[in-house]
Formats: sequence, C-alpha cells, structure tokens
Amino acid sequence: MIGAQMPVDRRSGLLAGRQGLVLGVANDKSIAWGIARTLHAHGAGLAFTYQGEALGKRVRALADQVGSTMIMPADVRDDSELDRVFSRIADEWGRLDFLVHGIAFADRSDLVSGLTSTSRENFLTCLDISCFSLIDLARRAVPLMAAGGSILTLTFQGSRNVMPNYNVMGIAKAALESTVRYLANDLGPKSIRVNAISPGPMRTLSGAAIGGARKTFRTTEANAPLRANATLDAIGGTAVFLVSEFGSSTTGEIVHVDGGYHVLGMPQPENL
Ligand code: NAD
Repeated sequence: MIGAQMPVDRRSGLLAGRQGLVLGVANDKSIAWGIARTLHAHGAGLAFTYQGEALGKRVRALADQVGSTMIMPADVRDDSELDRVFSRIADEWGRLDFLVHGIAFADRSDLVSGLTSTSRENFLTCLDISCFSLIDLARRAVPLMAAGGSILTLTFQGSRNVMPNYNVMGIAKAALESTVRYLANDLGPKSIRVNAISPGPMRTLSGAAIGGARKTFRTTEANAPLRANATLDAIGGTAVFLVSEFGSSTTGEIVHVDGGYHVLGMPQPENL
C-alpha cells in the first residue's frame, strides 16, 4: 500500500490459546471490560465474574460479545463463591494464563469528605476488598499457573499524591502497589508476573463515586502532557503487552496510562 495508510490489524493473534479470568466488570464503561475486549481482540479466551445478580445480567450480555461461556458470581469477601470459581476453571480449563483484578470499593461517604471521618470498619472493608483480594486471588491462581502466568491489577496515582477526595482509597492503592511488588517477588520463581496499570481518571461507576470527579477529570485532561486522559483501548493495549510474551521480563511494575499526568509538578502555565 503506497501512499495510503495501512489498516491496523487489531486481531494480531498475539494471545491465541491464552485463557484468563477477568474480575471487576460492572458495565461497558468498566476498565476491566476495556481490558477484556482488547485481550479478546488479540485472541484470548475469557472467563468472567460479577458481583451480585444485579450486575449478572449486564456482565452476561458483555461476556456473550466476546464468546465467553464461563460467567460466575463472585464477591471477593465470599470464600465459597471464590472456591466455586476456581474449581470450575480447574475442571473446564485445567489451567489459567492470566488474571485481571479490576476491583475496588470504598464507602461513598469516605470519598466526599476528609480522611479523619473514615471509621475503622470502613477502612478495613476498603483494604479487604481493594487490596487483600489480590493476595487471595493470587494464592488461588498459583496452582493453575504451573506453566507461568500474568496477574494484573489497577491502581491510581492517588496512592502517591494527594488527589481530591480519594482519601482511604489512596491508602488502599498504596497498599495494593506494595502488594504487587511483594507478590512479584514471591511468584517470580514460578514465572508468574504481577503488575499494575495506573490509568488517569476514567468515567466509570466507581470513578463517579469520588467527590468532584468531573472537575478532576477535566483538570487532568487539561494539564496532562498529552492533554488527554486515558482511553479504554489504551489501557487494554497495555494489558495485552503485560499478558503477552512482550511483557515476559516485566514484573512488579506500575505502568502509568494517564496521558503522562503523573510526571507533573504543577499545572500547565496556560491553566494558571
Ligand atoms: P467499576 O465500577 O466499573 O468497577 C469496579 C468493580 O469492582 C465493579 O465491577 C464492582 O462490582 C467490583 N467490586 C466492588 N466490590 C466488590 C466485591 N466485594 N467483590 C467483587 N467485586 C467487587 O469502576 P472502574 O473504574 O472500572 O474500577 C476498576 C478498577 O480500576 C478499580 O480498582 C479502580 O480503583 C481502578 N481505577 C479506576 C480509575 C477511575 O478513574 N475510574 C482510575 C484508576 C484506577
């Protein structure tokens, strides 16, 4: 093709034959869904979980779009549901090549006021669902990753820098990022890699629960070096890299997909 743009082949087959479990799809705006559909476009087979029947119908419809037939309920605080998820994967697939952890929770009241109003109960719930769940899921995935594997989670720059109203979730993300490093070291000898993607603010259900989310979204968009927030496709593409052979030497990493916002020391002069 001379003088014309080559069409982009999204179906690279890069992940043909790979099978993975995706946790954290709530709707078609979910980051986990953006990752799932991109992994599928590159050949991966997928199983999904959903949290509670209210989300089940939506997740089943999305899973259908990517040819998935393994769709299971799983609240990460419910051991018996997780037992069933992993025993079904063991029975039907016998192995797991990757796991995508797209789960976080904080009580909405803690995302609109200062940190000092967070109760012990809310703190523990947030850390349990948003951080401990990754340790628990990794432990369950290891026996199925005998040939190696890739575990991915999602974090946010609010782990390191104070972001408006992020509060207890920033603490959970700091713990999650540390968890990524410790798991990467524990599981490295088994050729299991553990990484996190750190997108900028995204318009999702969870994102909307954070006080001032619209202002934060507009501010990062206006000031990021690329003058744009992340897209689901860009996050999905990063996941393809981390799951594929191209990511085979990368573990314990936090990969920013945020238009470069994390490098800033202050807003762009034009916005002052
Ligand atoms: P989302 O609301 O679409 O997804 C969050 C998911 O967590 C939902 O599917 C929900 O069902 C699940 N979940 C919550 N509690 C659970 C539990 N007890 N058991 C099982 N599942 C549970 O929102 P999202 O923005 O796609 O969030 C996905 C991940 O991305 C989260 O870790 C979030 O912190 C992270 N992240 C989000 C943004 C953003 O701006 N939206 C930015 C960076 C990182």
